[in-house]
Amino acid sequence: MYAFDYQRPASVDAAVGATQGADARYLAGGQSLVQAMKLRLSSAERLIDLGAIPALRAISVSATHVTVGAMARHAEVASSADVRRAIPALAELAGGIGDQMVRNLGTIGGALANADPAACYPAAVLGLGATIRTNKREIAGDDFFKGLYETALEPGEMITAVSFPIPQRAAYVKFKQPASRFALVGVMVSQSAQGVRVGVTGARACAFRVPELEKALAASFTGAATAAVKLAPAGMAWQRPSSWL
Ligand SMILES: Cc1cc2nc3c(=O)[nH]c(=O)nc-3n(C[C@H](O)[C@H](O)[C@H](O)COP(=O)(O)OP(=O)(O)OC[C@H]3O[C@@H](n4cnc5c(N)ncnc54)[C@H](O)[C@@H]3O)c2cc1C
Repeated sequence: MYAFDYQRPASVDAAVGATQGADARYLAGGQSLVQAMKLRLSSAERLIDLGAIPALRAISVSATHVTVGAMARHAEVASSADVRRAIPALAELAGGIGDQMVRNLGTIGGALANADPAACYPAAVLGLGATIRTNKREIAGDDFFKGLYETALEPGEMITAVSFPIPQRAAYVKFKQPASRFALVGVMVSQSAQGVRVGVTGARACAFRVPELEKALAASFTGAATAAVKLAPAGMAWQRPSSWL
């Protein structure tokens, strides 16, 4: 690991200010960042630990939305009675991430900023139509994921919370890597007054929606309705080479 300066500010403003004048990175639970730094795949002159800003950890539920603070741990989302009542699929997704240690330390903000192609929360952001709140703006979930480990976040921009509209019903299912439990492929499907959304993670460089499945499920919200949908392999993580029979 390369040497770095460590700061633990007590407010969002102080944390954003601490990014100035250095190659700085926010530190959430360190579940991805610290591993990458240990392997020297990543480096930073300054780490800004967000763990001393309680407001970033809040989870709240209104009549229409579940809002999860960026520093809420996966275990907190999984065990929140409010989240379980409003969007059970979101709590179940959080409860299926990694093992107990990962869930005790990993955060929703870190998971989304990291944009691992196999991470679960990106499927929820797209499948539920969430909005990412940052220290400077709101970003529609549909505009957030840009590519492999790439997001719409600008340098120094901090995710402060994620707001999920409450659907009529939703479910998340993943085919998981047996050791890490990352999604080899994971799908969040939701139905609400706005329509049907399907968010997929694991199958491309970043999470994506599937309009063909959304259309089929809007016509008939049944598994059978999806059977006839054929998806083009273009852009998928793995393609059968054309020379193969
Ligand atoms: C063994 C193992 C198994 C795992 N299994 C799964 C799984 O099954 N499913 C799954 O979805 N994930 C899985 N993960 C990922 C894990 O859930 C974490 O969410 C992920 O590693 C991010 O960790 P973190 O929240 O500690 O963020 P960090 O590692 O601290 O940060 C990650 C990146 O996000 C940036 N960042 C952090 N917070 C913010 C913020 N608020 N605003 C802007 N940028 C920010 C950091 O600067 C860094 O670049 C696994 C991880 C491990 C180690």
